Amino acid sequence: MAKVVIIGAGGVGAVVVHKCVQVADVFTDIVLASRTLSKCDAIAAQVKEKTGRTIKTAKIDADNVAELVTFFKAEKPFMVINVALPYQDLSIMDACLEAGIHYLDTANYEPLDEAKFEYKWQWAYQEKFKKAGLMALLGSGFDPGATNMFTAHIAKHHFDEIHELDIIDVNGGDHGYPFATNFNPEINIREVTAECRHWENGEFVTTPAMSMKASFTCPDDVGTYNIYRMYHEELESLSKHFSSLKRAQFWMSFSDNYLKHLEVLDNVGMTGIEPVNFNGTDVVPIQFLRALLPDPASLGPRTKGKTCIGSVVKGVKNGEEKIVYTYNICDHEACYAEVNSQAISYTTGVPAMIGAKMMIEEKWLQPGVWNMEQLDPDPFMEDMNQYGLPWKTVELDDFKLT
Ligand code: NDP
Repeated sequence: MAKVVIIGAGGVGAVVVHKCVQVADVFTDIVLASRTLSKCDAIAAQVKEKTGRTIKTAKIDADNVAELVTFFKAEKPFMVINVALPYQDLSIMDACLEAGIHYLDTANYEPLDEAKFEYKWQWAYQEKFKKAGLMALLGSGFDPGATNMFTAHIAKHHFDEIHELDIIDVNGGDHGYPFATNFNPEINIREVTAECRHWENGEFVTTPAMSMKASFTCPDDVGTYNIYRMYHEELESLSKHFSSLKRAQFWMSFSDNYLKHLEVLDNVGMTGIEPVNFNGTDVVPIQFLRALLPDPASLGPRTKGKTCIGSVVKGVKNGEEKIVYTYNICDHEACYAEVNSQAISYTTGVPAMIGAKMMIEEKWLQPGVWNMEQLDPDPFMEDMNQYGLPWKTVELDDFKLT
């Protein structure tokens, strides 16, 4: 049905390619482009070995709008699936507008010199995309992405009005390294060292990073984990689009070991984003740290255990208060067996494929810049069940994070 260009040959990009190849009747032509051609070729070779299908690869600098425009005009895809880094979002959106193609990403734009996750830069493209008759779908990963869909689906099918939202992201996986991040280390560390912000009574309240801790027992025997409240980008769009929300919080699990390493690295300045002059060369500490840490794409064969990510919503239906929880559990080893990747890249790559499928099949296609929860969650949720991320919804008698 359509040709897509996928930009970014990292952990997530590899999964997107595998999943698009699996849905061959929708994704008839696939081009994988990234900064390092050899990484694209390695993914293409893996796909060829697993499925027999050939995909095209290309080298691209996604910071360079002119280069992107020339590339898009030559390839003429229906859309681009951007799974490079958040720094490239705006240059790729600019190039899409100039070349006349649709856009999708999994993480909101972040300026390189400022660790700030905000939609304002991408929301500012609303009129441009509308005028061009093009669609930009923002945040079609797991969180953001599936968590926005879970929330929208719960609001649509279980409540008249929703009041409280807790998104809980537990990774019970173990890769055996003393310290490694499950997705791009630079983005991951910038995210977890940022101040916490949560939505409370009409405004964002700021608290120090990792200052709020609770214990959470996952369903279906995944286990009990320490979770920490932190800022996550979907809180901004969900609190905007569900104006009845009185409180919205995001929680993520971290092991004591991970936090100990992070604290030391932070204390000695290794998570800094300002360049430091070392022997005449400017070095950005967090980028140097990234070079030392294991590549997230290499964690696949080593990671055992499960992820459990979901949304708990409190609200009112027919005048009665209730609590509904929708979640997905994903097994790291099963993901590796299917697409040679651990569950974090898998849970991000599958929703990216489904979001693109929603656009290509014209279930969601409409001009403008959209967050996931603004669109009908039903077809997306059906596809999650079909393409590897089955979910469950349960009603809870009580919910308290202690
Ligand atoms: P990786 O670092 O593994 O991969 C990023 C890829 O983008 C690399 O192949 C990199 O190239 C390429 N790239 C970087 N800069 C450029 C550029 N200027 N031009 C072309 N290619 C470039 O990251 P992940 O795969 O882990 O993450 C990909 C995206 O997914 C990130 O934006 C991340 O924030 C997002 N994400 C979203 C989640 C969600 O649930 N919503 C969860 C996890 C990740 P090279 O190989 O040369 O370095």
